Amino acid sequence: MAQLLLIEDDERVRTTLMRSLRDLRHQVASAPDAMTGLRAAIDHRPDLVVLDLGLPDLDGAQMLRMLRGVSDVPVIVATARDDEDEIVRVLGSGADDYVVKPFTAKQLDARIQAVLRRVGGPAADPTVTVGPLRIDPRGRAAHLDGKPLELSPKEFDLLHYLAARAGEVVAKRQLLTDVWDLPFGGADKTVDVHLAWLRRKLGETAQAPRFLHTVRGVGVKLVDPAGGAA
Ligand code: CA
Repeated sequence: MAQLLLIEDDERVRTTLMRSLRDLRHQVASAPDAMTGLRAAIDHRPDLVVLDLGLPDLDGAQMLRMLRGVSDVPVIVATARDDEDEIVRVLGSGADDYVVKPFTAKQLDARIQAVLRRVGGPAADPTVTVGPLRIDPRGRAAHLDGKPLELSPKEFDLLHYLAARAGEVVAKRQLLTDVWDLPFGGADKTVDVHLAWLRRKLGETAQAPRFLHTVRGVGVKLVDPAGGAA
């Protein structure tokens, strides 16, 4: 489900936890100390780090600050002490959640899912579905009635942006800002041209729209032709 990095010096705990987390369908990399862990966090870009506070080379709060200096990755700390001051300190140093040892892989997994949901990570499926239209932003694939759509990168971005806001009128100016990164002085024509191309690929026209509806003078909205998301 998620790519995890487990930073834990106790080999027995590390091995057991890795096995259990893999059984729960996570991909797990591990590091036995803080410095190796920092390097791994930079190199592997995990979705989430599980950080043991009692590491041989760095104090847990120090490690958290260093990690925060190089990455926004969500962190769950594992602490041996059910000590309120310690927990408050690590949460204040940038940890997203904590587990107190001993904990089961199942408990940890529940925390992982909750943190990833909160940060909008891979536990939440980012696929957008509007009626017969299905858009997977991670695989950058779009399907209509189960058939793949051949889209240019910008057409894909535009379709995904509108589908993620199905039923909402989006101003062309906003599309230029958010899809084209042109906050100043982009031409509405750019949007119109791409909308026309997108319509053709969706098998519709401006005169007989199904998904893409222009609201004159305001913008454009994408709706479920069957009415579901409009
Ligand atoms: Ca330890």
